[in-house]
Amino acid sequence: MLDWAGRLIPYPADVVETYRSAGLWGTLPIGAEFHEVAVGQGSRTAVVAEEGRLTYAELDEVTDRLALGLADLGLVAGDRVVVQLTNRLHSVVAWYGLLKAGLIPVCTLAAHRAHEIGPISRKVGAVAHLVESNPSGFDLVAFAFEQRVGHPTVRHVLTAGSLAGTPIEHLIRDSDPVLARERVAEIQAAIDPDEIACFQLSGGTTGTPKIIPRLHAEYWYNARAYAEAGGWDQDTRTAHLIPIIHNAGITCGLHAVHSVGGTLVLGTAVLDQALPVLAREQATDVLIGHGHYTIVDHPLFADAVASMKKVVLSGAKVPERVFDAFEDRGIRVGQMFGMGEGFFAMSTATSTRRARLTTVGVPTSPHDEFRVLEPGTEVDLPDGTTGELACRGPYTIRGYFDAPDVNAGAFTSDGYYRTGDLVAVTTHGTERSISVEGRLKDLISRGGEKVSAEEVETLLLHHPRITAAAIVAMPDERLGERACAYLVATGAPLTMAEVQEHLNSLSLAKFKWPERLEWITEMPRTPVGKLDKKALHHDIVAKVAGGDRSAGG
Ligand code: AMP
Repeated sequence: MLDWAGRLIPYPADVVETYRSAGLWGTLPIGAEFHEVAVGQGSRTAVVAEEGRLTYAELDEVTDRLALGLADLGLVAGDRVVVQLTNRLHSVVAWYGLLKAGLIPVCTLAAHRAHEIGPISRKVGAVAHLVESNPSGFDLVAFAFEQRVGHPTVRHVLTAGSLAGTPIEHLIRDSDPVLARERVAEIQAAIDPDEIACFQLSGGTTGTPKIIPRLHAEYWYNARAYAEAGGWDQDTRTAHLIPIIHNAGITCGLHAVHSVGGTLVLGTAVLDQALPVLAREQATDVLIGHGHYTIVDHPLFADAVASMKKVVLSGAKVPERVFDAFEDRGIRVGQMFGMGEGFFAMSTATSTRRARLTTVGVPTSPHDEFRVLEPGTEVDLPDGTTGELACRGPYTIRGYFDAPDVNAGAFTSDGYYRTGDLVAVTTHGTERSISVEGRLKDLISRGGEKVSAEEVETLLLHHPRITAAAIVAMPDERLGERACAYLVATGAPLTMAEVQEHLNSLSLAKFKWPERLEWITEMPRTPVGKLDKKALHHDIVAKVAGGDRSAGG
């Protein structure tokens, strides 16, 4: 076991024993789990994207070779690698290559910038930064080189689709497949399955994202449980359009489908690009995030779902119109609720239509435990009452990485993770199903991407002319929510361009920038003098409902 010096909160030993003896947690690290499946699947397709496809045998070999190349570069098991890749074939190769070399991927988004990447890569002590060439026109390679300057631990800039830095294509090309297999087997044999496999980022509410440590055995089980709940097998062809190097991408896409020997149909978030791939590859399953609910109105919708058997909708209340558009084509529609911290709920094969339409289903593992608590307490609420969801189980973290202060408030005294989500439980047939009713945490869910209000407010206040700032969720038909900033200025209000220029100068990822500005003379306060965000939220909801698109762009 690596020495995390108190930065990793382990599962209690007796709990690990229970999960392992129940057959939930395995005994292999993820790289070895994948290899075992690949050996059995050989010439079947493991992954297909717009730019190509790989069988299991090919993916297994190419990732062995990448792992050897990484090891020859001097990277050793336990080294952390910040990953900024999009939904491309090379991202799947990179993922298993890193894991097979025993390296720990740090899953950030290609959209993250210095404000996010700098503190995260320092906190985990990253030794390498893996980026792709120019996703959406931004020079990520140049960015990675800039980030390395003065960084205490980063030694390598690894690249995909670029000749700069150390291209992973060269590492693959230069390594011998037989030697690679031997070396990977050696590295994998030395990895404890209860060791950290990767880091995910929390869709958190703090100044910078919290870091979620995921362990080999529980993370692979998380995916197996998801595949089992979905009734998947080796004939499943799962399409995934939302970021793959993100918790839902890895768990519900990559690992889940590979745990059963099926095919990952990897699409990009751009429907015009992704839907022809779904149609061509006859995808059978897909997870649709809120940002893609408009798929039902897309001209390629009918072709893309012609072979679809099951669709899982996730991210916000599901409009019946969207539900019906799938169901009318004979596709089974359900919902899913999940998080980087672990816990997943999902509709089952026997969930009633009403449960599938109005709830996110039931926990995916029989060993999942959850409580609905009166907010701020450890008092359990009866079914039917809205309260905070707290959960514990075989794939839910026991603590954020290196965050004792946050952990003190984020878990109950008996180790349940407080999700900050408001839920209620209702019974449908034999199922106690969970419905999401709101949230306690102060964030905006922009098409599934989380924006911490506090993070953006703090940066806005760095501007010399902004004296107060409050970020609230503004309803949006396409993305569910967007960020609206209520601001108080000294002197004349700033233009949208000036605010954007300010946030850009602070290197904040663009998806977090407010998309509407409301200038006010003072912040509303509650009777006890606290900022009244509810009043601001009501104000923007009314303005949007009234068709007011004027203020501040
Ligand atoms: P992430 O870790 O980025 O996947 O975000 C997890 C959070 O997304 C949860 O704690 C919820 O706040 C939100 N979330 C996930 N699934 C759903 C859903 N089906 N409905 C509403 N919110 C959801």
